[in-house]
Amino acid sequence: MNDLKNEECSACSNKNVYFSTEILSIDEKNGAIKKIYLFRCKEHLDTDLDEMLTLRRKKLANSYDTSPQKPDSHKIDNA
Ligand SMILES: [Zn+2]
Repeated sequence: MNDLKNEECSACSNKNVYFSTEILSIDEKNGAIKKIYLFRCKEHLDTDLDEMLTLRRKKLANSYDTSPQKPDSHKIDNA
């Protein structure tokens, strides 16, 4: 397991100070729960979940060429 303390904020490139597991979606048919790790830095501590997810998507879009539905296993490639 990665050292979560060294992860970046999910919304920006600051170091995270808080991390939580969030439910991203629940499949209506089979009830499968899709979870993500969400990291927040000091600046984003009070940012609500929707906003965080939007920022996170933008951040990921900048670092990878993402298709809209990628598996959501918050993997970080430290280049
Ligand atoms: Zn941040």
